[in-house]
Amino acid sequence: MIGKVLRLVPDPYRRLIPRYIAMIVLFAVAQSAAYVLLMPMLESLFEGDLGAAWTWTAWIAVAVVFVCIGGYQQAVLGIRIGAGMMQSLQTRLGDHIAVLPLGWFGSSTAGSVSKLISGSVRDAMGVFAHLLAPLLTGVLVPAGVAIGMIFIDWRISLAMIISAPLLYLVNRWGQGVYSRADTRAHQAAEESNSRVIEFAQAQPVLRAFGAAGAGNRGLQNALTVQRRGSRGLVLASIPGLVVFSFLVQLTFILLVYLAITLAAGDSISVPAAIALIAVSSRFIDPLNQAADLSTAVRGAANAADRITDLLDVPPLAEASEPVLPEDSSVSFTDVTFAYGSGETVINGVTFTVPAGTTTAIVGPSGSGKTTLLRLASRFYDVDDGGIDVGRNPISNYPSGALMQQFSLVFQDVYLFNQSIAENVRIGRAGATDEELNRAAEIARVDEIVERLPDGWETNVGEGGTSLSGGERQRVSIARALLKDAPIVLLDEATSALDPQNEARVVRGIHELTRNKTVIVVAHRLATIRHADQILFLDQGRIIERGTHDVLLRAEGRYAAFWNERSRAAGWRLAPAESGHR
Ligand code: ADP
Repeated sequence: MIGKVLRLVPDPYRRLIPRYIAMIVLFAVAQSAAYVLLMPMLESLFEGDLGAAWTWTAWIAVAVVFVCIGGYQQAVLGIRIGAGMMQSLQTRLGDHIAVLPLGWFGSSTAGSVSKLISGSVRDAMGVFAHLLAPLLTGVLVPAGVAIGMIFIDWRISLAMIISAPLLYLVNRWGQGVYSRADTRAHQAAEESNSRVIEFAQAQPVLRAFGAAGAGNRGLQNALTVQRRGSRGLVLASIPGLVVFSFLVQLTFILLVYLAITLAAGDSISVPAAIALIAVSSRFIDPLNQAADLSTAVRGAANAADRITDLLDVPPLAEASEPVLPEDSSVSFTDVTFAYGSGETVINGVTFTVPAGTTTAIVGPSGSGKTTLLRLASRFYDVDDGGIDVGRNPISNYPSGALMQQFSLVFQDVYLFNQSIAENVRIGRAGATDEELNRAAEIARVDEIVERLPDGWETNVGEGGTSLSGGERQRVSIARALLKDAPIVLLDEATSALDPQNEARVVRGIHELTRNKTVIVVAHRLATIRHADQILFLDQGRIIERGTHDVLLRAEGRYAAFWNERSRAAGWRLAPAESGHR
């Protein structure tokens, strides 16, 4: 159980552990010696032999000095190891999360990660900070007292030695019940954490559909399960503790009974029996304390399991010999991909986007268009086939270098709870004010800035809630402009923007994509028509490809799609008219 936590201790601190344990043992041995020495001391005192009583007291004093040394040393070392472990684990988890595939991050992981980094790490380090020492002492002191008793009366010692394993087994049984309940309660807490985050983020949608209140069944169910889990946890800890406490008390009564019987049979003196009863209580108390703490240690071991599970999620394989891109082309070769163990959503897709050209991906909703953009930027690794960027497989780039190649303008624009200036600067941290202003001017973010009360310094609220959808998209375009990467991955807005916003977004995108390699999930007819290459995707396969004119003339799925969309938009275009930009 403790082993799981020990494995998480970083190297420099792991070397301190033997000393830490040795100090706990010194503390426990000295303490049990002090307890056992009480017997002859009390006996001498009751018999009026003051000289002997003083001698025994001196020995007790020596034991107490060792108790102090061991206690102080183990406390200092425990805190050092615990604090070191906490710091290193948080760094390790942070570093690990930074190299996980981006696709790993979903709404359900947000809850577990935050709980893990704050709660589980603290639970695990608690083993060193305040659990292990009292737990080990709770086991070692009774063991020491039981062994020490051999020198005083073997029958008492035997009774103690027999009762200890029995108490241990009962305690283990209680722990097992508790551990299962703890895992269930933790899962329920994680689930409800995620549902609360989702509930908060989805407020606009829920309200629009009149489902914001008690109507949110997912959240309600998760909270009910969590409540049940917490109650189950409390209930599960009761049987173990009750049975254990009962047995501990029974052992104590047995020891008292033995002491009285021995005294009655003249095997030991009455003062010795009284002293024995006093020492027996010292045998019992640490056991009780250890039982209480072992529940917390079990919780810490579970926390260690959760931390290990996260550290075991395979990171993106990093290139052993990083390469440099030769140009800004992108090519997919026979790419197949499924989300997790789900259905195949991309099926044998092959295409090349030559440097400096635009490829538009069109097709019905759910056909895998957005997934192609995610795969190109390595949010996920493909299951089969390969993707090259700049004529090298994307897995040969360190992840930072690969992302340098891309500007991403996706629909789910996330704005941080910071000033609008800081939000745009995410595009390129070292950008000058002139560059910032230029990007802002092209994406018409300057207009938004003028309207905001504190201009550039206005905080945009969590997730950018104080901006409209079109405005958020303009900020993301400004970021991308500032980054000025050679390849633009663009997911055009499906939702209708108001005409003013739309005109500005289009202008920004036009600037952003000039002379760049562009892969665009296209919805606007103008974008589609002007693309150098159009890929028509259906159920994860490219079923038609070519330029607008060629595809229109082929009178296949694309032509049908185009005619329907242009009729809906009120466009009338003959194929011959559409050849120029
Ligand atoms: P499109 O952009 O063409 O609408 P997507 O690429 O978003 O299509 O989705 C393709 C398929 O993959 C759909 O069936 C969708 O439900 C599924 N899908 C998309 N994202 C995920 C995800 N994160 N996890 C599991 N399935 C997903």
